[in-house]
Amino acid sequence: MKPICVESRCAHLAATGCSLGKSKPFGCDLYPLAYDPEEQIFHFDRECPLLGLYLGQLADEGSEASHHLARMRAAIAALEKTDADYLRANFAFDREYFELVPLSGMSD
Ligand code: SF4
Repeated sequence: MKPICVESRCAHLAATGCSLGKSKPFGCDLYPLAYDPEEQIFHFDRECPLLGLYLGQLADEGSEASHHLARMRAAIAALEKTDADYLRANFAFDREYFELVPLSGMSD
C-alpha cells in the first residue's frame, strides 16, 4: 500500500493537478470522503468546495460521484481483508487533517 500523501507541498502536485492520475494513493483517491473502519461509516470533508455537487450526484447511479463511491467501497472491502491497519491509520490521519462530518445514510 502506498503511503498517505496529503501534504500542502506534495511532490506529485503539478500545475494541472495531481500528476499520478489514477495511480494516486488510496487516501487521495478517497477524498472528499473519509472512511472510519471502526464505525464502518463514510465521512466527508465539509471544507471541500465540490461537496454539494458530489452529494447531489449521488442520487444518480450513473454519475461520477456514484462511480467514485462504488469504487471506494470495493477498495475498502479489499483493504479490510488485506490491510485493516492501513485503513485505521488512514482514517486517523484524515480525522486529524480534515473537517469531517458523517455522510448520513451512507453507512455500510
Ligand atoms: S492527490 Fe496527488 S498531488 Fe494531491 S496529495 Fe495526493 S498524490 Fe499528492
